[in-house]
Order: sequence, then C-alpha cells, then structure tokens
Amino acid sequence: MTTKDERHQQRQQKVKQKVDAKVESAQEERGIVLVLTGNGKGKSTAGFGTVARAVGHGQRCVVGQFIKGTWDCGERSLLEQHGVDFHVMATGFTWETQDREADTKAAQAVWQQLKPALADASVDLVLLDELTYMTNYDYLDLDEVVEAIANRPPEQSVVITGRAVHRRLEELADTVSEVRPVKHAFEAGIKARKGVDW
Ligand code: ATP
Ligand code: MG
Repeated sequence: MTTKDERHQQRQQKVKQKVDAKVESAQEERGIVLVLTGNGKGKSTAGFGTVARAVGHGQRCVVGQFIKGTWDCGERSLLEQHGVDFHVMATGFTWETQDREADTKAAQAVWQQLKPALADASVDLVLLDELTYMTNYDYLDLDEVVEAIANRPPEQSVVITGRAVHRRLEELADTVSEVRPVKHAFEAGIKARKGVDW
C-alpha cells in the first residue's frame, strides 16, 4: 500500500468514527417534519419519492396537492394503485387563474380533507405538496396549519413542499432542504416533459 493509500484509509477511518458516534447519539424515535423548498426543480419529485419510499415499506400515506396543474400527475396514477389517498384541489388555484375567493374555498376544502389524516395515528406519512403558497397567500390560516402539524401523532411524518416557505413552518420543521436552481431546461426554451416534469 502506498503512503497516499494509507493516508486515505486513515482519513476514512476518522470519518467513520465521527459518523458512528453521531449515529450512536441519535436515540429519539419519532416522526419528523421535512420541508423541501427553494427555487430549483426537484421539490415535489423528492416529496413523492419519500411517499414511494414509505409505501415500499408498507406504510400508510396521504397526499394533499395544493396546486392543480393543467396536466395529470404521474405519481398520482402510480401511488393510488398502492393505496395512497390523494386530496387534490379540484378547482381554483392553478398557476394561470388566481381568483382569491375560489382559490381560498378550494384550498380550505382540501385542508378539511387532510385534517383527519393529520390526527390519525395509523397514517405514517402526509405529503403537503405546494402548501407554502396557501399559507403565504392566506388561503389557509397559518396558525391552524402549524397547530395541526405540531399536534399530529408522534410517529407520523409530514413533508411540505413549495417555494418561499414561511419562517414559522421552517421553525416547526426538523429537516429543511433548499433546492437551488443552477440551470433549468425551461430557460433554454425546452418544454416541460411528461415523465420528467409531471
Ligand atoms: P418538480 O415537480 O419537477 O419536482 P418542483 O416541485 O421543485 O418541481 P415547482 O416550483 O413546484 O417545482 O414547479 C413545478 C414545475 O415547474 C415543474 O414542471 C418544474 O420542472 C418547473 N420548474 C421548477 N423549477 C423551475 C425553474 N427554476 N425554472 C423553470 N421551471 C421550473
Ligand atoms: Mg412542486
């Protein structure tokens, strides 16, 4: 073994010791709040990826979608077949129409459908896709949302996606990741693609 190899091995050994110590010290068992925010692409994809991960372990998942796209969502077609309940804004808020009254009603309707899931200990994971806009636009009451998430069953995890997450949701979260746009195909004039963008 060369000196370089030896040094590499020693360094890796030290990293391993540190990681092992951290793994050892993490003892608490409970569900978490995960926020996926930022202006880059991949927030909803990661949220649904987490749902797929949970479903793969036989866990019960509920999805709330607060933005109705003009296209059908590939994840919904797949995950509903695996017993995931979807609550989607049927009318109202899309990126195109922004009718305050109708949007508020539609957001409230989805929220009312989701509230029982956030109080149900048999639900392991709740994905609140694009929730951040609903609280930022006051379509949903921030206090009520924070309270429902904070008082959820201890084993339940919640994933929130959307740009510009409110500071209070960030504070409530255990894990917050920000997706940063380095570049996006759309800026080069490439159309959103089925199977990649929805
Ligand atoms: P995805 O659903 O692909 O994971 P996202 O949830 O991170 O994306 P949103 O802000 O919810 O992003 O936007 C949804 C749509 O907008 C997707 O079709 C995505 O490709 C597109 N998009 C995301 N980020 C950008 C960007 N920086 N510029 C242009 N389009 C974007
Ligand atoms: Mg999204």
